[in-house]
Amino acid sequence: MLKIEDLKVHLDAEAGLVRAIDGMRLTLARGQTFALVGESGCGKSMTALALMRLLPDNGRIAGGRLDLDGQDLFDLSEARMRDVRGGRIGMIFQEPGTSLNPVMKVGDQIVEAIEAHTPLRGAQARAKAIDWLRRVGIPEPERRIDEYPFRLSGGQKQRIMIAMTLAAEPDYLIADEPTTALDVTIQAQILDLLKDLQRERGLGLLLITHDLGVVSGMAHQVALMYAGQIVEVAPAADFFEAPKHPYARLLLRALPDANRRGEPLAAIAGTVPPLWQTFDGCRFAPRCDRAMVHCGMTPPALAGVPDRPVGHEVRCLLYTDVREPLSRPAVQPQVASEPHRDTRRLLLDVKDLKVRYPLSRGLFGGATRYFDAVGGVSYRIESGRTLALVGESGCGKTTSGKAIVQLLRRQAVIEGEALLYPASVAGSTASTGAAGEGTGPDGVPQDLFRLEGEALRAARRQIQIIFQDPFASLNPRLRVQEVLEEGLLALRPELDAPARIALLHDLVDQVGLRRDALGRFPHEFSGGQRQRIAIARALAVEPRLIVCDEPTSALDVSVQAQILNLLRELQRSRGLSFLFITHNIGVVEYVADEVAVMQAGRIVEAGDCDAVLGRPQQAYTRTLLAAVPRVERRSAA
Ligand code: SF4
Repeated sequence: MLKIEDLKVHLDAEAGLVRAIDGMRLTLARGQTFALVGESGCGKSMTALALMRLLPDNGRIAGGRLDLDGQDLFDLSEARMRDVRGGRIGMIFQEPGTSLNPVMKVGDQIVEAIEAHTPLRGAQARAKAIDWLRRVGIPEPERRIDEYPFRLSGGQKQRIMIAMTLAAEPDYLIADEPTTALDVTIQAQILDLLKDLQRERGLGLLLITHDLGVVSGMAHQVALMYAGQIVEVAPAADFFEAPKHPYARLLLRALPDANRRGEPLAAIAGTVPPLWQTFDGCRFAPRCDRAMVHCGMTPPALAGVPDRPVGHEVRCLLYTDVREPLSRPAVQPQVASEPHRDTRRLLLDVKDLKVRYPLSRGLFGGATRYFDAVGGVSYRIESGRTLALVGESGCGKTTSGKAIVQLLRRQAVIEGEALLYPASVAGSTASTGAAGEGTGPDGVPQDLFRLEGEALRAARRQIQIIFQDPFASLNPRLRVQEVLEEGLLALRPELDAPARIALLHDLVDQVGLRRDALGRFPHEFSGGQRQRIAIARALAVEPRLIVCDEPTSALDVSVQAQILNLLRELQRSRGLSFLFITHNIGVVEYVADEVAVMQAGRIVEAGDCDAVLGRPQQAYTRTLLAAVPRVERRSAA
């Protein structure tokens, strides 16, 4: 057993002493998976770093014990701790790019781990390394073993990291978001591999993840962390069947799926509090929908719950001495505006879209070889509707979206048509499946790929994009006002300064930000707030269609719920259409009207969301859906 007792981790920060972990205890048994879950900033990753004694320079273990076979690892010299790392306790980090040696072939890195921690040497160690590469799903392992990390994709690097860590055959593995960067099919393969290793060698796994679907399929025990403490710990089945802490209940209700279509998700108000502050009462009280008068004054202890099995403990005063609740909803109220009254009309008709990237160029600069990223896809989007493009990384879904937004004109060869129908008079309703005549400026729908000059600028205004990474997609040197004004100045030059300011105020109101946000820089905001800024930027030019490229995949479940609620409300009030690019099937079920499944640059199956996801006809769609980890809906939902 690996036992943590009363762990305290402190960090020195500008704001003061940060109590990142404040009195944690848990026991990880061989052959078992213990999942740590919770929002960013709750202390999950810091726990992992503390267990490996790899805290950042400003951090220290301020108390507690880490017991492995009767030995307190916090007492070991650094030299002896190095033997424990890798050999007894392995760790897979969140960021594979920084964990591999860039100037060493990946095979040599795995062989090094094998030779350091197992009796195998030379050719035997190399053969074992190839075997590990195969087990983590690296194609052509005999060839790839001699690659350098820079030649591999992010997902492949993550798999190399996993192979390297497992090759040392540790007794315990700490895996911090091990599969977040991977496609669902590879993720399923890695999770199966970890289960096999648990059966074969009794691997004890501490799994840190925000994906409750993965937890549901893997964990024997679950601990939910909030603000540096465990607030609920339980056998996994009991946690999902009868979560007791209000935070756990809200998190499960924030998960999107088909059953919640048409209703707002439980978006938990507020954010995790900064951990340099001291707490007089329950740390979750400001966000809790069950808060009671004394919750702000009495810190709750982690204790058993009367009607639950042994091992199910909760840090909440509800289960001690129930008193009058405050009459205050914690779930953000949804302000329902007037629904948009437009009827369904065909908005965009994409026909046989092909996107090819030049791979090499000849003597006179012309391309001689191409990579076909999108190999002929067709789809239609109606006003006020959402089409989801799903598929694994590299299947062409993002490329297809970028082509529509005209972001690839200089980099790629684009063929096919993307007919944009005018707003005033539509093509035929797409429900009949026939494209009728539009009456655009010249009486016909416009082909986006053939527009130039003023016509192109006008079309750009109608289709905007929101990217996956709200950190990278906003210019850090511009204040929010400048970020939002950029598009306005280019695409709506008719607006004067007062009109622009009025519009900006309107926009930040709509996306749920305060007006003083306009004077601040992007780095001053959380990930969810930045994504709201990105949405406001897209809305500024009053588009009819927004391409949403994995807009919530970098966000916590509760923040994802806020963003999905916002998009849903904008669609309802403005009649917006979305092309939603995602690999998250739960999100697809919640937001999409139609779905197109892409594989290797082509659409292999498309149609009504319920039909495609409920009764998939193609083998690939069935494989994709089968690989998606899901939380089984029980009483918590
Ligand atoms: Fe909510 Fe009170 Fe329980 Fe904290 S102690 S989770 S505020 S009910």
